[in-house]
Amino acid sequence: MNRRHFFTTAAAFACAPQLRAAEHDLVIHGGRVIDPGRKIDALLDVAVRGGRIAAVRAGISASSAAQAIDARGQIVVPGLVDIHLHARDAQLAPPEILSTGVTTMVDAGSRGADNVDQLIDIARNAPNRMRILLNIARLGNNPGGRGEFLDSLEPADVAKARAAIQKHRQWIVGIKARLSRGVSAERDLDVLRRAVQAAGPLPIMIHIGDTNSPLPQVLALLRKGDIVTHMYAPTQHGIMDANGQVLPEVRLARRRGVRFDFGNGLNEHWSWEVAESGLKQGFPPDTITSDLVYQAGADQVFDLPTVLSKFLQMGMPLSQVLACATSSAAATFRDLSSYGSLRPGAPADISVLELTQGNFEFVDNYKGKRLGTQKLVARAVVAGGKRVA
Ligand SMILES: [Zn+2]
Repeated sequence: MNRRHFFTTAAAFACAPQLRAAEHDLVIHGGRVIDPGRKIDALLDVAVRGGRIAAVRAGISASSAAQAIDARGQIVVPGLVDIHLHARDAQLAPPEILSTGVTTMVDAGSRGADNVDQLIDIARNAPNRMRILLNIARLGNNPGGRGEFLDSLEPADVAKARAAIQKHRQWIVGIKARLSRGVSAERDLDVLRRAVQAAGPLPIMIHIGDTNSPLPQVLALLRKGDIVTHMYAPTQHGIMDANGQVLPEVRLARRRGVRFDFGNGLNEHWSWEVAESGLKQGFPPDTITSDLVYQAGADQVFDLPTVLSKFLQMGMPLSQVLACATSSAAATFRDLSSYGSLRPGAPADISVLELTQGNFEFVDNYKGKRLGTQKLVARAVVAGGKRVA
């Protein structure tokens, strides 16, 4: 190439707008941006570059980006974080969960030390960020089978759980223990002690409702950062006393840093009455989660935005509901602390939700129904800076 030809070509490049390097990879423009962790709720644009949030402000030109999403009339939030679901079923593929706006998820106890490899394969191949709470039972949840500890405490193998954590530290973020009588019989406190031993500095999530021991005895063994799921279970030894008042020990546990998770699920995990009473008494969840399993995709739960909508129906403000599935959820685990936020520099995981208006029926675990007029629906999802098809 001679010198003259070079300059002509360079000039041609400079003039052709389609060949100019875009300032941003993606701009989501015109939406109502709600970033609960930073107390932002305003009409703003979000720019993404190199897989990270580049800017959140008004007036970012859509033409400055290689790709644009028109979010007018919609809500732009950090990618949703569901810290209690089950991704073990082949029929419930992570891409499908991602399409509902969940860019980060934690499988809560589907597998234990003896069979966690299968789940780690799923996590490795998932297009969303997936982490694992290892079940203290070495074979994990045993759906449809006998409870993990009905016969003996033997499946709660501390050494095996510790070895699995050590080997898979980048995937395992804590320990899960199911303490209901159908799982742990009268061994709930022993199972819990073993879970704490296995977890070391990592948090544990316990599943309550119909435990053998009163909740205050269970809570006494929990540490700051540990998580109680199925907080609104109406079965025996829940968070309330016989008169329906939140127990003082439960409030005390929250004050010293124990976290309370919703965990929708399918069976005996919550009723409208307990949830509404808890909210009315000033005891809302720290995290709202689906406890999704394959069957729940078509029954009661459907997806995380639907579960969040149930709290809108119960009168919780939108920004607080969203915090329970973004900033507060991400804060549960140190490994997830960079997610759940639209702060510049954060990984560009973003969900565009629509708050649809109409008449919607929502269901609890006892076939109780409530009618709502608003329902959140995922309209677009960005994971690691890339729009998901
Ligand atoms: Zn669960």
